[in-house]
Amino acid sequence: MTAFSFSVTHTDGRARRGRMSTPHGEVDTPAFMPVGTQGAVKGVTHRDLESLGAEILLSNTYHLYLRPGDDLIARRGGLHAFTGWSKPFLTDSGGYQVFSLAARRTIDEEGAHFRSHLDGSAHLLTPEKATDIQAQLGSDIAMVLDECLAHPADEAAARQSMERTLRWAQRARARFLALSDKSGHPPLPIVTNPGQAQFGIVQGSIYPDLRDESARRTVEIGFEAYAIGGLSVGEPSDVMYDMVDRSTPCLPEGRPRYLMGTGTPEDLVEAVARGIDLFDCVLPTRNARNGQLFTSEGRLNIKNARYAEDDRPPDPACGCYTCRTCSRAYLRHLYMAGEINSSTLNTLHNLNFYLDTLRRIRDAIVFRRFESFRREFHQSLSRQLQDQ
Ligand SMILES: [Zn+2]
Repeated sequence: MTAFSFSVTHTDGRARRGRMSTPHGEVDTPAFMPVGTQGAVKGVTHRDLESLGAEILLSNTYHLYLRPGDDLIARRGGLHAFTGWSKPFLTDSGGYQVFSLAARRTIDEEGAHFRSHLDGSAHLLTPEKATDIQAQLGSDIAMVLDECLAHPADEAAARQSMERTLRWAQRARARFLALSDKSGHPPLPIVTNPGQAQFGIVQGSIYPDLRDESARRTVEIGFEAYAIGGLSVGEPSDVMYDMVDRSTPCLPEGRPRYLMGTGTPEDLVEAVARGIDLFDCVLPTRNARNGQLFTSEGRLNIKNARYAEDDRPPDPACGCYTCRTCSRAYLRHLYMAGEINSSTLNTLHNLNFYLDTLRRIRDAIVFRRFESFRREFHQSLSRQLQDQ
């Protein structure tokens, strides 16, 4: 079993090109992780994802814990064996969905008490429990449980929440280390991936001093890598960029930096410019199902009547299966008819656009022309199809 490792192979300004090794393979960074909520990316198969060049998927602990259950998945040998996806998985802690989906949730020092959005059953998600569930799922990267604060929050509330997240991070790390030391306290969960890494999460809302302190104290606890959480929750994008700008210098150079839940293609380019290595976001897949395509000329809403007899591909600059075989007219028809192929074809294109953008970013860093790539990328998108 290969242990987790990371190395930066090239830099250009603050942008980094690197390689992350996990028990289920290598990931070239900066990388985008498609979101596979239920152990599958909605609308596309694992075969599609491999042909698009996806190297790592994100899956949601909250959903898999409630259904089919982490015990059932552990008995099948873990998430890789259960789903047939043989490349790396990252799992979130479940916290974000508890905060956004669960009913009647209350948070106290112990953890998050909530009721399932599926059947109303009562559950308690603690830092230890989130660690155990992810050990049973056997993802390559597990996340600590953090407190997700609503935006906007005043500074006092943000500090309290940051302090609690730090205490939870210590508990999650202690549990993670106890699981890898088999002499721990039974009954232990089934560890289906002994090479799993655990990432800490920097919080602090939109307060720079809190972000600094959270980063410093999370690094003191010591994780395989670090994520920046609590952004892309409704704050203006320049505030988000400022927080990322502020956080990355506080994180170790030799560890990956993951910006959680972000974002638009423009956000990805701006975050890479500030030293981010890993991303996930539901935008390309969710928007695809709603008929919105990300293209080299901006966003295209396929339901728009102007595409009814438009024989051009959705993005003339794209080489994906959808753009090679489908016209805008056909895609609009599929969308209007509620045909399941609409979701699949749109998702294939949007994921290709995101993954290809990351490929172009990585190449630009290697050839030390990231700044010109960044400028041209924004110029191209600013000539947008005014299509909203
Ligand atoms: Zn395409």
